[in-house]
Amino acid sequence: MEKIYLLEECKDAKYILISGHVRPDGDCTSSCLAMYLYLKKALPAAKVQLCLEEPPIVFQCIQDFDKIDSTYTVDGEVDVFIALDCEKSRLGEAEEIFVKAKKRINIDHHISNSQGCGDINYVNPDSSSTAELVYELMDKQYINQEIAKAIYIGMIHDTGIFQYSNTSPNTLRTAAELIEYGFDFSSLIDETFYEKTYTQNQLLGRALLESIIFMHGKCIVSAIDKKTLEFYNATAKDLDGIVNQLRITKGVECAIFMYATGNLEYKVSLRSCKYVDVSKIAAFFGGGGHIRAAGCTINGTFYDVVNNISKQIALQMKAYEEKMILK
Ligand code: 5GP
Ligand code: MN
Repeated sequence: MEKIYLLEECKDAKYILISGHVRPDGDCTSSCLAMYLYLKKALPAAKVQLCLEEPPIVFQCIQDFDKIDSTYTVDGEVDVFIALDCEKSRLGEAEEIFVKAKKRINIDHHISNSQGCGDINYVNPDSSSTAELVYELMDKQYINQEIAKAIYIGMIHDTGIFQYSNTSPNTLRTAAELIEYGFDFSSLIDETFYEKTYTQNQLLGRALLESIIFMHGKCIVSAIDKKTLEFYNATAKDLDGIVNQLRITKGVECAIFMYATGNLEYKVSLRSCKYVDVSKIAAFFGGGGHIRAAGCTINGTFYDVVNNISKQIALQMKAYEEKMILK
């Protein structure tokens, strides 16, 4: 996809609104904040607003975290809406604002949004993160240490500290350029990625203890129900990272983690190691994501959800095994 000229696209805009997906993660939060800081600096005359659901508190280390507006209160007509790290349907409360905006720009790296949903799109499913794409579109003269730090945080969260297969030479070159700005990247990794609260660790422990392996050890599933969340006085934000821990169980190709979001409704996270395309499985259930990390919401009991997902995984595994035999 061809590069877009962000500042050119926004130069006449009096009111720019930035938003990302519901349940914002590290990449979404950081991309939005980096874009916010950048536009405030490059276009000081424009009104720039960032609307987002409340992100995990660990990201408060990024400048202007406290400027995030989770009330979605719009003041007049939006000239440019910048949708980051998602398609229109995942904008939540901001979707209505997006639809009415004069110009819509969409920057994303989800394979499930390969066409883009804006009037102007910059979507690249090969990119590690939306943060990496945002950096590509920035005029470097306006980048300062705080913006660099935000981009870096987005990248480390979507690549699992440059470990997942979405890490490219360009990702590492970008990271190298970013750390030249001199922020303390080592502490950032600890504070935003590895560090867990006692509650988060307890929930992780519960999920691991109660996990079930199936399909001859190639799949693993675990769930946290509403009662458990209430018992620990926790929210969905305290469950980040559990699916990644399940995924690294020896012999596992596909990990499923789910938590109850309503009566007979589960938010499902999927991860794979080598060959199962979980974005296809998530898309089958109305969700989306990436080849190795995706998510969706499914109705039914725990067993219904596991059965339905298992069928989709089994189809892919069968196709893969047949391909291997033919080789
Ligand atoms: P997670 O399992 O960490 O919530 O999400 C993994 C990846 O899938 C992320 O890139 C996330 O944005 C995407 N994803 C998670 N849930 C959904 C969903 O319901 N719909 C779509 N389109 N993408 C999702
Ligand atoms: Mn992302």
